[in-house]
Amino acid sequence: MTLAAPDSLREPLRAPRIDADRLWARLMALARIGATDKGGVCRLALTGLDGQARELFIRWARELGCTVRIDAIGNIFARRPGTDESLPAVGTGSHIDTQPTGGRFDGNYGVLAGLEVLQALDDAGIRTRAPLEVAVWTNEEGSRFVPVMMGSGVHAGAFPLEHALAAADAGGVTVRQALRELGHDGAAPAAVADGAPRFGAYFEAHIEQGPVLEDAGVTIGVVTAALGQRWYDVTVRGMEAHAGPTPMGLRRDALLPAAALMQKVREIALAEQPHGRGTVGCVDVFPSSRNVIPGRVRFTVDLRHADEAGLARMDAALREAVRALSCPEVSIEVEQVVCFPPQAFDERLVGLVRQGAEDAGLTRMDVVSGAGHDAVYVARTAPTAMIFVPCKDGISHNELEDARPADLAAGATVLLHAMLAQAGVAD
Ligand SMILES: [Zn+2]
Repeated sequence: MTLAAPDSLREPLRAPRIDADRLWARLMALARIGATDKGGVCRLALTGLDGQARELFIRWARELGCTVRIDAIGNIFARRPGTDESLPAVGTGSHIDTQPTGGRFDGNYGVLAGLEVLQALDDAGIRTRAPLEVAVWTNEEGSRFVPVMMGSGVHAGAFPLEHALAAADAGGVTVRQALRELGHDGAAPAAVADGAPRFGAYFEAHIEQGPVLEDAGVTIGVVTAALGQRWYDVTVRGMEAHAGPTPMGLRRDALLPAAALMQKVREIALAEQPHGRGTVGCVDVFPSSRNVIPGRVRFTVDLRHADEAGLARMDAALREAVRALSCPEVSIEVEQVVCFPPQAFDERLVGLVRQGAEDAGLTRMDVVSGAGHDAVYVARTAPTAMIFVPCKDGISHNELEDARPADLAAGATVLLHAMLAQAGVAD
C-alpha cells in the first residue's frame, strides 16, 4: 500500500511515496532484536542488543547512500546531502532503546519513518536544497542510565557531556565504558555549544503513547507543545501507635493528611483543564502493619501543565494545601526533585505539519505531548515540531504496544511533506 504525497509536490516531479509495507518490514526487523515472548522488545540503552540495533540502522542508512556520524555521547546521524551544503540540515529521528517491557514502536517508529522519507525521496529522484539527517538519540528511556533523554539532552546543553558519560548502571558500568565497548564513542562533538551542528529544523514522528487520537478517531496529532513537569517527594510525619489502645482523638496518624493531600492533587489538576495533570504514583506507609497507626508516609507527586504560569499555579496550590493540612501533631515536607519547563513547538513548523496532514487528506487535531521526548530538548537549539499517530488503546511502555501500518505510513507521509517543504526541492 502506498500513500500519495500532497498535490502541491506532484508536479513536475514524480510524487515521492511512503511505502507502508517497507516501513512496517523495517519496524518488524528492528523489533526482532531483543524481542520478548509477549510480542514486545527489551533493548536497554547501550547493551549488546542496542549495539546490534544501532549497527542495523547504520547498515540501512549506508545502503541509502547516507554518510554516518557518531558523536561523543553516541548519538548517530545519517546524512543525505543537499544541493546546498552550506544550509543547516533538516533533521528528524528519535530513539531505538526501549523500556525493559517496551514495545516495537516507541522511538523506533520516528527513526524508521525518517529512513523511509529518505528512501521515498530516492525512489522519486528528488534532491533537496538543504541536507537531511536522521538522528538516533542515545538512551532516551533512562531505564538503565539516568538521566533520561540523555543524548538529546547533551546535544541541547541540558546537562554536561561529562555528567552523562559518568552515569553508571546498577552494575557499576558507566556510559563511557558501554559506548567504548560498542565502538560508538564517536569523535564528533556532542553539544551544540561545543560545535555540534545545529539543525535548521527538526521534526519527530512518534506514537502518541496516550488514548486521545484513537478516542477521537483522528489519524494525525499536530503537537503544539510538550507539557512542563514538576516532580515532588512528600513526607508526612506523625507517630506510630497501637491501633487498639489509642483513641481516635489522641492519634498522630500520618496517613490522614497524606490521603487528603493525594485527593487534593487530583483537584489541583482538575482546576487546570484541559492540560493540567496531577498524579500520585508511589506511596510508602511506615511501618505498614495492619494494627499500627502510620507514623510516616512518603509519596510522589507529578504535576504537569502546558504553560509555566499554569505550572506555577499548581505548585502554589499544592503548597497551600500542605500549609492547610499541617498541624502540631503531623508535619508535612515537600521537596521538588525534578523540573522540566513546558516547551512550545515552533509555530511555523507546527504549521507545516498541519499543512502536510491537510494536503494528504488526513484527519488531524492539535494535541500536546504529555510525555518527554528527544524533540523537547532539541527544541532548545532549533525550531522543532512533532507528529503523533495513534497507538492501540493508548498503550505504550508495554509489550502490548501496537499501531496500525496505515497510521504509521500516514505519519511518515506528513513527515515527508514537512521535511520537503522545509528543506526545499532542488531544481
Ligand atoms: Zn519514545
